Amino acid sequence: MEPKVIESPILWDNKRYHSLDYALKRRFGEKVAKLSLDGGFTCPTRDGTKGTRGCIFCSSRGSGDFTKAGNITLQMAEQAALLAQKWKTKRYIAYFQSHTNTYGPIEKLKALFDEALAFPGTVGLAVATRCDCLGTEVLDLLEGYNKKTFLWVELGLQTSSDETGRLIGRGFETQQFDEVVGKLDTRGIRTVAHLIAGLPGEDGQGFLRSVRHVAALPVWGMKLQMLHVLTDSDLYEAYLKAPYRLFDREEYVELICDALELIPPDKVIHRLTGDGSKDKVYAPLWTLDKRRVLTEIQQELTRRRSYQGKFHQG
Ligand code: SF4
Repeated sequence: MEPKVIESPILWDNKRYHSLDYALKRRFGEKVAKLSLDGGFTCPTRDGTKGTRGCIFCSSRGSGDFTKAGNITLQMAEQAALLAQKWKTKRYIAYFQSHTNTYGPIEKLKALFDEALAFPGTVGLAVATRCDCLGTEVLDLLEGYNKKTFLWVELGLQTSSDETGRLIGRGFETQQFDEVVGKLDTRGIRTVAHLIAGLPGEDGQGFLRSVRHVAALPVWGMKLQMLHVLTDSDLYEAYLKAPYRLFDREEYVELICDALELIPPDKVIHRLTGDGSKDKVYAPLWTLDKRRVLTEIQQELTRRRSYQGKFHQG
């Protein structure tokens, strides 16, 4: 089938992609901030169930380097106070970010999610987890929350290639991911899929294959980022022993624009570049200047007279 090409640029609040910020403003009528939380979970790739070291690229904090462990209400209060210096908003999404946030007894999940939703101004819940930690009981619980609040579930896929998936110690196959996305969709639960560009052994085409794969699934949103070599990850040791060429900033910007052109315009873009902690990112260092990367993506889309979904085959 020929790609569908719309010549006039589509804009979302002057951006050429459908950002989460835009989607939340549309839904709630004002800015909504995410409060990143650590619910004290671990992962099956860390506790010995499927491995002990975690996914090869992941930090010791389980992708939650900006979260702090401890009481949920206190975590939220602390972050809300910090954000108040930046934005006027008093509306929040409680974002359970660190490790696998459905990997525990149902009672624990319920207590944590209820506590978070009770925090003043909380209008929604985001739960980062894995496709192999969403059994029927957990899905039932999430379906209940989906009926009473604005919920999304974030699932790391990282790559649609099972070969790369094994190399990075992901611990599940792409087919399992696809099936779980289908189950969440059947229950009306929003899903956000996470992909990483620059994984070992993958070039830009490999990343775009993953983007096409996810774009064809019934996901609500996508999170894209450049691989970080973090000093407290197994990838760091591997990279020191056998360094390989990582994308430079210009290449990454081009690649993300290519990816956005393939993603249907209704899918919400949660991230286009990562939030690596300055103390931990070993390479590529250009990722630390997040604002510059985002500006250049917008500039490149403008230069191309392009936008999210331009070459989406619908
Ligand atoms: S990437 Fe996700 S599943 Fe893998 S170790 Fe990190 S937090 Fe756990």
